[in-house]
Parts: sequence; C-alpha cells; structure tokens
Amino acid sequence: MIAETLAAARPDPVRVREVLDRSLAKNRLEPDEVATLLSITDPRLWEEVFAAARRLKEAVYGNRIVLFAPLYVGDKCVNNCAYCGFKCTNLDVVRRTLTDSELTRELVALEEQGHKRLILVWGEHPDYSAEEMARVVRLVYGTKKGRGEIRRVNINAAPLDVEGYRVMKQAGIGTYQVFQETYHHETYRRMHPENTRKGDYLWRLTAHDRAMQAGVDDVGIGALFGLYDWRFEVMGLLLHTIHLEQRWGVGPHTISFPRVNLASGVRIDRNHLVSDEDFLRLVAVIRLAVPYTGLILTARESPAIRRQGLRLGVSQIDAGTRIELGSYQECRDDGCQDLAREQFEIHDTRPLEAVVRELAEDGFVPSWCTSCYRVGRTGEHFMEFSVPGFIKRYCTPNALVTLAEYLTDYAGPETQAAGFALIERELAGIPDEARRAQVQQRVERIRTTDERDAHF
Ligand code: SAM
Ligand code: SF4
Repeated sequence: MIAETLAAARPDPVRVREVLDRSLAKNRLEPDEVATLLSITDPRLWEEVFAAARRLKEAVYGNRIVLFAPLYVGDKCVNNCAYCGFKCTNLDVVRRTLTDSELTRELVALEEQGHKRLILVWGEHPDYSAEEMARVVRLVYGTKKGRGEIRRVNINAAPLDVEGYRVMKQAGIGTYQVFQETYHHETYRRMHPENTRKGDYLWRLTAHDRAMQAGVDDVGIGALFGLYDWRFEVMGLLLHTIHLEQRWGVGPHTISFPRVNLASGVRIDRNHLVSDEDFLRLVAVIRLAVPYTGLILTARESPAIRRQGLRLGVSQIDAGTRIELGSYQECRDDGCQDLAREQFEIHDTRPLEAVVRELAEDGFVPSWCTSCYRVGRTGEHFMEFSVPGFIKRYCTPNALVTLAEYLTDYAGPETQAAGFALIERELAGIPDEARRAQVQQRVERIRTTDERDAHF
C-alpha cells in the first residue's frame, strides 16, 4: 500500500501548496498528502516545504525545546540486529549492566549537571524484565543530590506484554519508546534474524497498542533511517500514527527518526544511507504531517544538523549525552568515544551547558518542564495545542521557571547572562498580566531562595 501511494503521488505546485495549507491549518495530513510532499523533486518547492515547516513549528510549539539525557543501564542482548553494536554476535563490545551503586553514581553525575529528564535504555535480555526495569525507575526517582532530582523517566527498551507495561506504569514512567526500525517487511527480515525475539515484526508493531491497553498512554514510535528508502519509512511512521489515533483516540507522544551510525562490529550497507539534504527534508515533512506530535532529534546527529532540525520542527533533544555505559561519572569532556562500550557513535558530544547556551543565544527556551505528566495531564498532549492559550498559560511559564532553576543552580556566568536575558524577553511576551507577575515572582524566588519545583 505504501509503495502504491508513493507511486501515485503527483507533486505539482498547486497540489503541494494545498497540502501545505492544510498542514498550516494544523491538520494531521493523510497518506496521499504526505506522499505528495515526499515526491517533490523541484528544489524551489522543497524551499516552500521548509518555510512551511518553520512556520508551523513556530505557530504550534513556539520556541521551547525540551532537554533530556539518555542513560544506558545494560547492554546485554539476545537479538542480532544487523546495525547495532549490542547484537549478540558482537564479541568486541563489553557486556555490562550497571549495579545499583554504579547507577547511583551516574544519577548523581547527571543531576549535578542539571538534568531533570532521563530516558533509560536497555538491550533485550531476560535479566531486564519489567519488574527489574521498574525497580531501576524507582531507584532513579529516589536518588536526589542537593537540589538535583530526576523528575521524569522515559524508557527505550524491548516491547513488553500488557502485564509488563502495567508494572512499568505503576513505577511512574513517562513515555515508553519502541522503534519499529523499518516498516518494510523484507528489510525487517534481513535486519532481524527470524530466530530472534526481535525477528517478530508484528510483536514489535503492536507494542504501543499493548502499552495503551495497560494504561501507558504516552508512547514513542520511530524508524531507523538508512535501512530502507527514507520516503517509505516516513509513510510507515504516518500510518502507525494514524492507527494509534484511530484505535486509542491519541497518537504517539513522540516520533524519533535516528539515522544509522557507525557501531562496533557493524558493517553498514550504504545503499539506503540518508544524505543530510534528504534528512532535513524528512524532518520537515514529518513536522508538517503530524503538527501535534513531539519530534526528537538525538546526539547521533552533529551540532550543525541539530541546529537546522530545531528550526524545522524538532521539539526535544538530548544534551550532554554520553552513551558509553557508566560514563557520566567519568566527567570526561574530551569528546572521545570508546565504541566497545557504546551502542553506536554519536556526533554531538558537547556538555549540557554548551547546548543550553547555544539554544539561549539562538532564541530558543531550553525547558525541563515535567508539569503535565506530574499533575496527571499525560496522554493529553493534544490539550497543550487544542486548548486555546494553554501554551502561554502553562508551557512557557513552566519552561521559564525550569530554565531559571538550571541557570541559578548549574550554569556559569556567561550562560546565566544569556539565559536570564532570554527569560526577561520571554516574560514580556506573556499576555496575561497576572500570570506574568506570578512567573516573575517565581523566577525571583528561585534566584534568591531554596524554593524549587513550583510548577503551573
Ligand atoms: N533494545 C531495545 C530495542 O531494540 O528496542 C532498545 C533500543 S536500542 C538500545 C535504541 C535504538 O537505537 C534502536 O531502536 C535503534 O533504532 C537505534 N540504533 C541501533 N543501532 C544503531 C546505530 N548503529 N546507529 C544509530 N541508531 C541505532
Ligand atoms: Fe539488541 Fe536493541 Fe541492539 Fe537490537 S537494537 S541488538 S534489540 S540493543
């Protein structure tokens, strides 16, 4: 069906502009409309697509960027995914699961940098049961150092059964991410040997339905770009979104679109690698296709690509990222990586503070907000956008308050100067006078007292 829809698409300028207008009116696009955008060949029309994506991003999300860090907990894996350094046949990678005391040291190191939101990552292995992962989630929430604490824990791990997702929900997880990797059946079979757990395409495809059934209503989907035709994968992500909307009344909370990177013991087939130019195109098309879904762009990408991705519609990035197991506590900032200790190579190794400073200087508001999830507004992601004024009443104030916390507790003088100047400018843009005064007071109390975590 995807191939036929793509083949039938006719990207003439009139049709393309119609599709862009529907997206700018904040509609989720239909498959034939997305196929139209994906089929564009004229560079001038692509420029119109980029311009529309930038406008939509501004209109829907404003300039907030949510920041998080990944924490790899264990790299044992029973699967043999062709592209991954953790695959079971790779004997070069050091197999390790962090002990509780190692985990605690990692958490303290992350908190001391200012992180508030984590994504925990595991390979697929009997040692990593739902109960064990839930225990680690509780340990994370319970580990607090000084003013540091982790306020939201997301997960990227193997698909679970319904009972497993219930266990995770009780532990208080935020989003559970499972990437389909490729929506192309034949490629899926080639990448994931049939005699492995991950070889079961449908078990993976239905992971989010089981999560929803268990009450985990924040789910993340994704495709690993570079395994098959990028246009096909964008269509797969769209159809997956539509399925979740139709079945559960709510689409995915986030979409991820990692590109395949160098990894230990992996020889990447270069046939479908996605160029930077096409990558930015796919970011823009996904933004336009699903105006209300959060888009995540990780440190797999270089600072330059991430900077462009932010303008085109990305709403969340990781920062200060280290993915070698146990490496946050090493406090190395030489940017060197040891492939034998990580799943793949990353291309943005800047410390958190450098990313915050760049964002602030570029006019983006770094945010560690976890308010909706903690006051029970989960799964209602849509509300942020559908309730008039919600962003100005809640999202922007919470972003500014969490930024003030970061600047006061963790930043050096230069970042503080850039950050507080940004806060002043943003305050001026809050239309409701009473709300503006409340935010101003909270920022002031953060700067002058120990009061923290007062969210709207
Ligand atoms: N083991 C779990 C699973 O497979 O679902 C957790 C996922 S894995 C630790 C996180 C994601 O990294 C994978 O879903 C895949 O999309 C991505 N990944 C794997 N190998 C990669 C590579 N060489 N370059 C970039 N991303 C990769
Ligand atoms: Fe294991 Fe996940 Fe890597 Fe596949 S992608 S080998 S399941 S860690």
